Amino acid sequence: MANQTRQIVQDSLKALLEDDVFLPGLQGDAREQAFTSLGAILSTPNHVHKSFLRIALENGNVVRIPAFRVQHNNALGPYKGGIRFHESVNEEEVMNLAALMTLKNALHDVPYGGGKGGIIIDPRSYSVKDLHLICKKYVQYFSDIIGPDKDIPAPDVGSGEREMDWMMAEYKSIRPGQPYKGSFTGKSVVNGGSLGRRDATGKGVYFTFRYMIHDFIKQQKSFLQSTENAFAKTALQFDGRPLTLAIQGFGNVGSVTALEAYQCQHLQKKVVAVSDRNVTLYNSDGLDIPGLVRFTALNNGNLPETEEQLKQASIKAVIQDRNNVLYLDVDVLILAALEDQIHQNNMDKIKAKIIVEGANAPITSEGDRYLSDKGVIIIPDILANAGGVIVSYFEWMQGRETQFYTEDQVYQLLLNKMKSTMDTILPTYFGDPLPLRQNCYIHSVMKLSTVLYRQGKLY
Ligand code: NAD
Repeated sequence: MANQTRQIVQDSLKALLEDDVFLPGLQGDAREQAFTSLGAILSTPNHVHKSFLRIALENGNVVRIPAFRVQHNNALGPYKGGIRFHESVNEEEVMNLAALMTLKNALHDVPYGGGKGGIIIDPRSYSVKDLHLICKKYVQYFSDIIGPDKDIPAPDVGSGEREMDWMMAEYKSIRPGQPYKGSFTGKSVVNGGSLGRRDATGKGVYFTFRYMIHDFIKQQKSFLQSTENAFAKTALQFDGRPLTLAIQGFGNVGSVTALEAYQCQHLQKKVVAVSDRNVTLYNSDGLDIPGLVRFTALNNGNLPETEEQLKQASIKAVIQDRNNVLYLDVDVLILAALEDQIHQNNMDKIKAKIIVEGANAPITSEGDRYLSDKGVIIIPDILANAGGVIVSYFEWMQGRETQFYTEDQVYQLLLNKMKSTMDTILPTYFGDPLPLRQNCYIHSVMKLSTVLYRQGKLY
């Protein structure tokens, strides 16, 4: 678990220890002891599985590829989390991502624990045949510890529905006659995947922002005006006035979030900048997002990066350095690319007053503290980017019931679930001085602690 995650979990436990209304059955020394046990349980994974996959590559070489499955906690249900295919994957990172999954599922009342997998490869350097073999071997090596009621992997950076289809097929052949549809989520629709899964995270990311700044302010304006809370003051600045948005990353999450923002009728707003691994594109009058989505679909996911390409796509924009997106004078910044984008060395250049974490852990603890102290609203990853795992849960349920929902039904269920979480968290957030991340963690830790206590795991 990364220091930042561990620290916020410990801070949450400290706040709950001092709150006598929480777990009133635990008092005195027994209470102290139980909270110490909780700290130990939540800050370490239950299991770290590691293997070196032996792969005979198409070119004749035999290689050993390091692969992980971390099972952080299953108090709330089977372990759940993606498998990342990336050359920078490491055990520490996978452990942290698995812990974030435990907290995310607890926050949104999804009946799963937290897990994460990783394979240390750059998938772009392998043939399709090699990747197929790597996926099959991963399932063979970990087949005893995964399964629809044990641990359910999904796609993550570098993997997608193709890999999940391959993995599910391998699981099915290793366990003939047993239920297999729910062994992996994020599969193709024809293979038992859910409609709406691809867009779920991006839709959820935009929804959390829109719900806070539009619906919640509208419903709770007098409460927000009555408090001295710094975040409430920030939120009220945006009430009913035109907004500008910038989005870092234009992949699965960023492009869907951008399109949602472009199409949303509830707020007066413009997406003035988007970026990817190569460029930032800026237009103070607002970018043509559908045009950019069409361009990326035909160009390997990349945004236009030359004047000629902009002209070819009929897009009006100024081309800027790729990191410029972070420093623009906009109201809202949505981070949908990578970890650690805002840190000690650039945090003082950020001008946005609201930041939404579409990516996992895109702000370091120093950046988080610095911006929160300035009253910047940060909608954290475990709250904002849970759309993917929520629809994975719907996929798993549909696989069990062999009844499938329409795309509209999936989106409605998704937004209802996220709304319910926002309605639980926001009144506390705007009523106390803690940042939203801390409020979310307290909620998750409260749920996990109660369940662990009732399951008799603290003594
Ligand atoms: P993706 O690979 O589809 O897109 C990533 C985007 O980031 C691309 O546009 C890429 O060009 C851009 N990018 C890469 N390096 C960059 C850099 N240095 N600066 C600016 N842009 C850069 O990935 P994705 O699925 O959209 O995931 C993005 C983030 O969201 C990841 O952190 C992922 O863990 C997180 N996330 C994704 C999902 C999901 O369902 N896809 C769910 C939860 C969290």
